[in-house]
Amino acid sequence: MNKQEMTLNNQVQRAVEDFIQVFCADKRELAAHKIMQEADENQIANLKKIGIPAKGCPINTVVNEMIEEVYKYRASVNHPRFFGFVPGPASMISWLGDVMTAAYNIHAGSWATSPAASCIEQELIDWLCAQAGYTKKSGGLFVSGGSMANMTALTAARDTILKEEKQHLGVAYVSDQTHSSVAKGLRIIGIPNSRIRKIPTDPWFRMDIEQLKATIERDILDGLIPFVVIASAGTTNTGSIDPLEEISSLCHNYGMWMHVDGAYGASVLLTKKYKHLLKGIENADSISWDAHKWLFQTYGCGMVLVKDRLNLFNSFNTHPEYLKDLEAEENQVNYGDMGIELTRPARGLKLWFTLQVMGSYAIAEAIEHGFQLAEWAEDELKKKKDWEIISHAQLAIINFRFAPSGITEEQIDELNKNISKAIINNGYAGVFTTELNGKKVLRICAIHPDAKESDMRNTMRLMNEYAQEFYQSIITMKVSS
Ligand SMILES: *Cc1c(COP(=O)(O)O)cnc(C)c1O
Repeated sequence: MNKQEMTLNNQVQRAVEDFIQVFCADKRELAAHKIMQEADENQIANLKKIGIPAKGCPINTVVNEMIEEVYKYRASVNHPRFFGFVPGPASMISWLGDVMTAAYNIHAGSWATSPAASCIEQELIDWLCAQAGYTKKSGGLFVSGGSMANMTALTAARDTILKEEKQHLGVAYVSDQTHSSVAKGLRIIGIPNSRIRKIPTDPWFRMDIEQLKATIERDILDGLIPFVVIASAGTTNTGSIDPLEEISSLCHNYGMWMHVDGAYGASVLLTKKYKHLLKGIENADSISWDAHKWLFQTYGCGMVLVKDRLNLFNSFNTHPEYLKDLEAEENQVNYGDMGIELTRPARGLKLWFTLQVMGSYAIAEAIEHGFQLAEWAEDELKKKKDWEIISHAQLAIINFRFAPSGITEEQIDELNKNISKAIINNGYAGVFTTELNGKKVLRICAIHPDAKESDMRNTMRLMNEYAQEFYQSIITMKVSS
């Protein structure tokens, strides 16, 4: 190593030490931060001015610039009161696991380049498969998230069920609550919208089995080939779980693949208290499961699990001449042959690290806590007038809206949109809207282990104050006009 490299390494070491001080201080104060720090036009214009310098700048200068000008502007998905979308309450332990794994820059695409990491990923996948009730033939791999997990599983479904010359006849079945990444993945693998059936849901937002069956029958009569049903275990809107056992027996009868999108809800498998809700998942041919949602990992960590690992291997293995040196022995998994990526980071190691440090019980408790958070929100809501619950607390999600009498549906939609805007602007909590049964509704998804009962009750109280205020102004306008 020459002298210049030494100094660069030393500089980096110093920068890392300084950065950790700043980052940890920031993290300690997170709960006092605004939920969303938006970048205004000026800020964006400033960023565009930076450009790429021909000559580099000192590390410290650039580190500070990144902290002040880039990282600061974001939705604090880590914040205990960020209740939008699916929050990303990543634990500091996962973060450390991520930093350590990135430090070694391990190539986890083949056993030869990462024997120990591949072994650990395999052990962890086996453990996750066991949680789902899968047996020895099962397997899977770590991917970047739910979207990739869905697409990877659907590729295996297509290749397993449809003969190559019949692929243009294959039909897939989702519900009107299925996550958009499923249709996106289907389109990418050659199943266009015209062969994706959106089955209506029942009043609890679960796929309607009778309609599913009728649609499959009709497609068969039309000479098409139904090949996969995508059931959701925890829909993004309401946390609803499709009737997994009924869907699995239906898939069995029609010779179809059953995929369960558990990107959000599969984590419930780790709990004692709620695991029974996912009964039937063990019959699925494949499962998607995000660790960067309810397993508290930093981003880029999801899993696809399959009942028979050969189905992934058959879809994704390749044997080019330049990878001959890396071909694996029996029992040595080459993850590059199990999914889309060849060069890939060892995404599973941070989850392994988290489980080693915390133990699976503590994780299970943290997941159960989410259920309780949404129940506290519901309890507070019930004390207040004119609030309507659209979907009761389930899997840490609740949907509701303020619906006083004497104003129109459009005004109610507008009012609820404004309540969401007001609480986000205030910075106290992140509550966003969604649409259910054609109505604009407020939605809370609460999975942060540090969120407390008071966070939930205060959020509801604050929203109620905004609701009353906006309602009064509508009424006053009506009177004066
Ligand atoms: C979040 C989510 C996805 C997509 O996962 P990404 O990790 O965002 O790609 C898919 N399905 C469900 C049910 C989800 O909640």
